[in-house]
Amino acid sequence: MNLVMFGPPGSGKGTQAERIRNRYRLRHISTGDLLRDAVARKTELGRKVESILASGALVSDDLVLALMRDAIAQVGNDAQYAGWLLDGFPRTIGQAEGLDAILADLKQEIGALVVLDVKREALVDRLSGRRTCTQCKTVFHVKVNPPQVDGVCDKCGGALVQREDDRPETIAKRLEVYAAQTQPVLAHYRGRLPVHEIDGELPVDEVTRRIECVLA
Ligand code: AMP
Repeated sequence: MNLVMFGPPGSGKGTQAERIRNRYRLRHISTGDLLRDAVARKTELGRKVESILASGALVSDDLVLALMRDAIAQVGNDAQYAGWLLDGFPRTIGQAEGLDAILADLKQEIGALVVLDVKREALVDRLSGRRTCTQCKTVFHVKVNPPQVDGVCDKCGGALVQREDDRPETIAKRLEVYAAQTQPVLAHYRGRLPVHEIDGELPVDEVTRRIECVLA
């Protein structure tokens, strides 16, 4: 099974993807994680995209498509996976069209889109309170899901940090970019693929339960 997890920044795509991937043996491919990793490792790609990520704008379609083509192609060669789960991609119509071409080439298909709906106020609240472990990437929230010790990851003891793009000015920019460039991508898929809309403001376990229900 191949899935796309769709929704605005802060809608819980990453959290739900982590849960769903185990159940269906999917490789979780988060474009944001791949890009942040490239920045941390100071690769050529990382140097190119660092300031774009910090600003909340989108990296160019060409760079993202090349990255994702490799990531998707690798899954096909790895017997431990039954498919992939895309998180944070495609984010523009150009990327959706590029993905169509990549999948036609690799003779693969998207099985369904899972769309997480969350209102703007809740997104701002979630993103501004989010803290991420520098080591294992586990996500906490200062109010809703705080760590036992301030600034320290419960799971691995790593330091918790606020993502640079989770600061208030950048959050506004990312939500603007989502509305202008990413939201229209849904129309590209509607009528062609199953598109499952889920209320992303429900408790985390309930969101997972509903996703599993529509995918069953
Ligand atoms: P995310 O972790 O999905 O919120 O992504 C963090 C940042 O990475 C975004 O604000 C963009 O700068 C960049 N990024 C992630 N995915 C994409 C994509 N599909 N296209 C372009 N830029 C992306």
